[in-house]
Amino acid sequence: MALLKAIKKFCLDCYGGNSKEVETCPDDCELWPLRFGKKIKKISPLKSIKSKCRWCMGGNSKDIKGCLTPNCAIYKYRFGHNPARKGIGNQNFNKSG
Ligand code: SF4
Repeated sequence: MALLKAIKKFCLDCYGGNSKEVETCPDDCELWPLRFGKKIKKISPLKSIKSKCRWCMGGNSKDIKGCLTPNCAIYKYRFGHNPARKGIGNQNFNKSG
């Protein structure tokens, strides 16, 4: 599932599939601005997910690795990386130096 769609699904799951409740969700979550699965300027979906997972694990980043909920919509993004982009990125990084 694509990154922003995963966030949208996470929020939908959070409200038992009720999209109306997602709309009226109070702003108290890192994923709130992204809950409709739309890109928002100056907000990194991956950083927001990493922060959400840290919260979910009681503030301990080290526990994210051991998350036991692979069916969570944002599970594959929980480290703040997009696995679909592995190996893609700053192509010039290796050329310099
Ligand atoms: S992927 Fe795991 S740590 Fe992250 S929000 Fe879901 S259940 Fe919590």
